[in-house]
Amino acid sequence: MTKEIEELKKIIEESDNIVFFGGAGVSTESGVPDFRSKDGLYNQHDIRFDKYRPEYLLSHSCLVYEPEVYYEFHRQKMDTRNIQPNAAHKYLAKLEERGKLKAIVTQNIDGLHQKAGSKVVYEIHGSALRNYCTKCGKEFPEDYIFTSTEPVPHCECGGTVRPDITLYEESLPDDQVAGAVKALSEADTLIIGGTSLVVYPAASFINYFRGNNLVVINLERLDVSHRGNLLQIQGKIGEVFSQLED
Ligand code: NAD
Repeated sequence: MTKEIEELKKIIEESDNIVFFGGAGVSTESGVPDFRSKDGLYNQHDIRFDKYRPEYLLSHSCLVYEPEVYYEFHRQKMDTRNIQPNAAHKYLAKLEERGKLKAIVTQNIDGLHQKAGSKVVYEIHGSALRNYCTKCGKEFPEDYIFTSTEPVPHCECGGTVRPDITLYEESLPDDQVAGAVKALSEADTLIIGGTSLVVYPAASFINYFRGNNLVVINLERLDVSHRGNLLQIQGKIGEVFSQLED
């Protein structure tokens, strides 16, 4: 066991209000590409989408002005229905079960934390597993957009059915943000993992953390500062957490 892993183990043993703040890197070991890594969605070439900026394909403007493009991209790249949780999701679920971890704040939309058994998960960018009608609000099952034969799926009321995710140009869900901010401000240890911390306002939420231990587990080194104890571990988050298991 390396010194860093030993230190992380000690921090976890001594903490009883841990919050985890994560992003797309948490799910790469499940086979879901992140955005900004070299194999990430932003670096994949696909003739159908190459003429668009990735941010546009994930924006409210694209959904409204070019819905066929938006739904084609969503169907091709956002289908995580058959993906399974990895060691990172499973470890965090166990940490919650042990009463150590109080909440997960995730930017991910894949529902993998809940699939692994985590109960308190604030999805600040929503979830691709939920869909709703933009006109009457009716909810639709997670398969709806993927199995619909219409290029742009509709509800019987005539409204468009869209995924319950926060697109660029849209505001974050109030209830999830409120829960996330409360959990972060009460935590004694914050573990940040698998995120480039460049998507705002999500990344700014870590500033609500007032506790002592800040742990960062990421493939690339992040530029974070902290007035308390800061531990940075560079590596794959699933592999790092696996080394903590007894
Ligand atoms: P990002 O792509 O900007 O950054 C991912 C970060 O994770 C990078 O720093 C990368 O080095 C690191 N990383 C990749 N694999 C890792 C691993 N196995 N262990 C540790 N670190 C790893 O992603 P982001 O910061 O989450 O921001 C982009 C937005 O992407 C978020 O808003 C999120 O909604 C969305 N997104 C979600 C999913 C998903 O739901 N699985 C997938 C792609 C993008």
